[in-house]
Amino acid sequence: MGRVYDRVALIGLGLIAGSMSLAMREGGLAGEIVGYARSPETRATAREIGLVDRVVETAAEAAEGADLIVLAVPVGAMGAVAAEIAPFLKPGATVTDVGSVKRAVVEAVAPHIPAGVHFVPGHPLAGTEHSGPRSGFASLFRNRWWLLTPVEGSDPEAVARLAGLVRAMGANVEEMDAAHHDLVLAVTSHTPHLIAYTMVGVADHLKRVTESEIIKYSAAGFRDFTRIAASDPTMWRDVFLQNKDAVLDILGRFTEELFVLQRAIRMGDGAHLHDYFTRTRAIRRGIIEAGQDTAAPDFGRSQTPAKDA
Ligand code: NAP
Repeated sequence: MGRVYDRVALIGLGLIAGSMSLAMREGGLAGEIVGYARSPETRATAREIGLVDRVVETAAEAAEGADLIVLAVPVGAMGAVAAEIAPFLKPGATVTDVGSVKRAVVEAVAPHIPAGVHFVPGHPLAGTEHSGPRSGFASLFRNRWWLLTPVEGSDPEAVARLAGLVRAMGANVEEMDAAHHDLVLAVTSHTPHLIAYTMVGVADHLKRVTESEIIKYSAAGFRDFTRIAASDPTMWRDVFLQNKDAVLDILGRFTEELFVLQRAIRMGDGAHLHDYFTRTRAIRRGIIEAGQDTAAPDFGRSQTPAKDA
């Protein structure tokens, strides 16, 4: 596709920003990629591994003169970063973000965006439980969805250009309303994470089961919860605080269903359980048919654990 933006500024240099930098570089999609991270340690690591073309010392310095500015920090930090860079934004530039929550980010960021600058919020539905400047990889977004939630008055040309960049990084683009995004993600990502955190917490509290037993026998489902529950604590704290309404709605429904299943188990209602699990199995099949996961047993894991899994 070739160059989409002359200069791209990445604010935050973790998993998502790092993967974007590597994907943009692979496709020659940006003339120059400038990066900033809050801590001197992360900036030093980014310089050492050459994660971006130029690491700078302030967010403002990164934003100045950039054609695309990507806010890739935890959602609770987006507003403060936007306020800091606002006076340095070039007219005609586009500001986007990659936050996992959209309504709260729009509310926190939009008021700081000056006239003549485009704000196009976004969210790549791609990630791992790893974080930090060393965790990114160029293929992270390949065949994943990247949702854009343009705000009122978003310039269609700015949206189309950003969508072009996202597609060139291998992702599929869909536009939706920020509130709808938050509800969909509460079902598909946020509440499942909370459940995984809870399940791992329950095991942690079970004094009867020794730690070694939990780890030794963890292949039986628990292991997949532990992978999700290893996700970045700051990021996920912010997700729950910022998507409170939708998560509480879905969690309420979850609790009701859990009680129904609990009752079925107590009453020995095998037909109910069988029927329920048949329906849920069909959802898994749908995800595989949509190309969003593999049907390989045990998530395609090899029997010998990968070194860097
Ligand atoms: P990450 O690897 O933990 O990186 C976060 C970056 O933000 C780091 O460079 C960090 O700087 C910086 N940062 C943290 N707190 C900050 C603050 N208060 N002010 C300024 N900078 C701060 O995180 P990530 O996974 O790339 O996530 C970034 C964003 O993408 C989040 O909004 C998250 O919701 C979203 N997202 C994540 C995933 C996922 O699976 N991980 C998927 C989709 C979207 P230091 O290193 O210097 O502390």
